[in-house]
Amino acid sequence: MSVESPRQKVPPQGDADVPARLLGWYDRNARSLPWRAPPGAAPPDPYRTWLSEIMLQQTTVPVVIPYFEQFLARWPTVEALAAADTQELMAAWAGLGYYARARRLQLCARNVCLAGGFPQTAAGLGALPGIGPYTAAAIASIAFGEVVAVVDGNVERVVARLFAVADPPPALTRQARAILQPLVPSARPGDFAQAMMDLGALVCRPRSPQCSACPLADICEARRLGIADRLPARAERPARRVAQGTAWWIEVDGRVGLERRPSRGLLGDMPGLPGTDWRQDMDFALPFPGAWKRAAEPVRHSFTHLDLKLHVAAIRLSDRPAFPRDLAWAGAGELKGLPSLYRKVATRARALLED
Ligand code: SF4
Repeated sequence: MSVESPRQKVPPQGDADVPARLLGWYDRNARSLPWRAPPGAAPPDPYRTWLSEIMLQQTTVPVVIPYFEQFLARWPTVEALAAADTQELMAAWAGLGYYARARRLQLCARNVCLAGGFPQTAAGLGALPGIGPYTAAAIASIAFGEVVAVVDGNVERVVARLFAVADPPPALTRQARAILQPLVPSARPGDFAQAMMDLGALVCRPRSPQCSACPLADICEARRLGIADRLPARAERPARRVAQGTAWWIEVDGRVGLERRPSRGLLGDMPGLPGTDWRQDMDFALPFPGAWKRAAEPVRHSFTHLDLKLHVAAIRLSDRPAFPRDLAWAGAGELKGLPSLYRKVATRARALLED
């Protein structure tokens, strides 16, 4: 994409104005979220900030809110989360996706407990499992008041437009941090970070930014140049992989055979239906002969870098079959804790057997 303007590295009309304007706007417009403290109030418990930020990685706010509230009710402190039964925790996470995050969540909680509390700087937080540069900066800023730039996707978009930065991520991310750092106010760094996030989420939206409601409209380079809807530039996406496999629904006396997925790889350590590997060259396969029913269409499921077509085969038996691996026999209640991929497979398999 070509943007004619030279890149602006400093606010066009002096940088002192930006934090004050943003904080004033935030005081009137902040989103009320269950993990947040109100504008100007004492910082929230770092456990709440950390838990919400991990849940929000690649997941939207409306999806996260009920999970956050359930987790907090069940495990109200980082110590409780560290001591939680891992399988219960994984089941409670089901539906949030990216299960490796749930495993690292508990590992991180245990590290925090061993250290006697959360580190209070982005550098210290960034050394914990599952905490990348953005999350570390967000917790340090919001929960501990560190004067550090916090750049998520919303903030990146606001900075790209405000200062007409033409580069796509990851160069944009680095530039946004460098541009924002001198603007972070020492008095309310956490509120400033959340103000930028909210401005991106509520006003400077990906499509159709609401410039008439923006507190920074008169100093926005992209608005002046009429290029707001062309920024930020898109990063080239890596090619997605495609794989297929077969999931086996084996039902005996109303119970279904489950097995735990391998620790490494997609849905690692999560309960799942037995089945084949997922590979590009994998075809439909069955583990033993019998009166199997096969779904006409595979279940389709997208992971971050993989599109999966999972064929479904279902069989109802009167005796448990000889099976090369140990299966756990689960009733209807336990099946509710399956990852969403396998819940889709379960729906398809039940329909097959009722046909
Ligand atoms: Fe975004 Fe428009 Fe505000 Fe610029 S003026 S920061 S494009 S909402």
